[in-house]
Amino acid sequence: MSLHIGIVGAGTMGAGIAHVAALHQCTVSLYDIHDDVIRRGIERITTELKKGVEKQKFSEEEMTAALKRIRPRTSLADLDTCDIIIEAVIEDLLVKKDLFKKLDAIAHHTTILATNTSSFSVTSIASATKKPHRVVGLHFFNPVHLMNLVEVVRGEHTSDETITRALEFGQQIGKTSVKVNDTPGFIVNRVARPFYGEALRLLGEGVASVEEIDRIVKSEGGFKMGPFELMDLIGIDVNFAVTQSVYEQFFQDSRYRPHPIQQQMVESGKLGRKTKKGFYNY
Ligand code: NAD
Repeated sequence: MSLHIGIVGAGTMGAGIAHVAALHQCTVSLYDIHDDVIRRGIERITTELKKGVEKQKFSEEEMTAALKRIRPRTSLADLDTCDIIIEAVIEDLLVKKDLFKKLDAIAHHTTILATNTSSFSVTSIASATKKPHRVVGLHFFNPVHLMNLVEVVRGEHTSDETITRALEFGQQIGKTSVKVNDTPGFIVNRVARPFYGEALRLLGEGVASVEEIDRIVKSEGGFKMGPFELMDLIGIDVNFAVTQSVYEQFFQDSRYRPHPIQQQMVESGKLGRKTKKGFYNY
């Protein structure tokens, strides 16, 4: 069955999810508060799809058909008939709760409301709705078209039917899903906190440079990317917000303490690849 997927937030993750869903036969309604973000998101999807054609992953006809399935939307109300709505807006709990309250009011009663949050409690986000049984976490990874994993997060009130439909959707778009209970950072972002945190502390103490730490982690540790390359890819602002959120949700456990280097970079607008300046220049 061809699903109709609504996506709220057309930034890095929203556009990435739209790309993969459209390529796997889903109709996609893409919404953002900023119209120009939707336009730029579709431009990025087009660029990535063209690379896929060049690499013979799919044909030009399949690319054209996928692009036709993506519909830019200028109003949240346009998402009312979607099978699943996936929220991919900024990592801010109040913004997400406010959005879920609105989505709960406009979406058909059978629509699943999913959050792509990296760290917040799905139960907490669901508490903004009157139907928390239909709220689930669908945590994709960046870049969505290359990363296979999706964490399917069960909130306190998420129903079995919602989990089953979320898992089926993951399968339909070619992802490997893992079921996770609701905890700050879920599995991957919890495990990854010390990866970034210790690298930042090493840098802050002047033990080694960005380039040296990344090089050693890759060549000796077998990682595909070093912690600084990865933070630049994720977005320093997003990574900092996730670290702050996990730290606060664990009642300021020092293991998850954010580092001032990240804060300074966010304040100076060095957000990584998206601003062409981060730990590296692009
Ligand atoms: P981003 O900054 O690239 O995009 C966020 C988008 O949300 C922006 O385009 C903004 O205009 C839009 N937005 C903000 N408030 C909105 C609202 N009320 N309604 C509609 N649109 C709104 O951020 P991103 O990197 O795509 O992250 C989005 C979510 O995905 C966050 O929760 C983040 O933690 C999570 N996430 C990010 C990554 C990553 O590597 N960047 C990976 C996994 C999950």
